[in-house]
Amino acid sequence: MAYTYDDQNIFAKILRGEVPCNKVLETEHSLAFRDINPQAPEHVLVIPKGPYVNYDHFATEASDEEIVDFTRAIGRVCTLIGVCPQDGGLGYRMIANAGEAGVQEVPHLHVHVLGGRVLGRMLPRQG
Ligand code: 5GP
Repeated sequence: MAYTYDDQNIFAKILRGEVPCNKVLETEHSLAFRDINPQAPEHVLVIPKGPYVNYDHFATEASDEEIVDFTRAIGRVCTLIGVCPQDGGLGYRMIANAGEAGVQEVPHLHVHVLGGRVLGRMLPRQG
């Protein structure tokens, strides 16, 4: 089935400059900005500039150039916000939610980069 992308989502509006953001990094194909409702002292969202709804859409249809740019942008964000363990940072977690099970709110691919404190278990235990 074909992917459908809603260009009225809030991150599309940020990319078009219609809504402001607290920018951390911009590259040719990617943009990183601080989450408006941070869940940790460091909480940055990294998005591709192209119209991709989620990670599997991006991995399937993005160009190699976009994928390399996005991957390196995430790495550069980790360095910029000081969370890389080899540089003395505390470490970080990357999350990309998709669809209903992933509880994705904004239908434009975004990787959350979280850090600045010990983040606890990846998922709460069931039962
Ligand atoms: P999701 O649940 O889709 O993985 O996460 C969406 C994230 O986008 C949430 O963490 C939410 O706080 C953030 N967010 C929603 N609207 C805005 C906005 O207008 N600006 C910024 N910077 N973040 C937003």
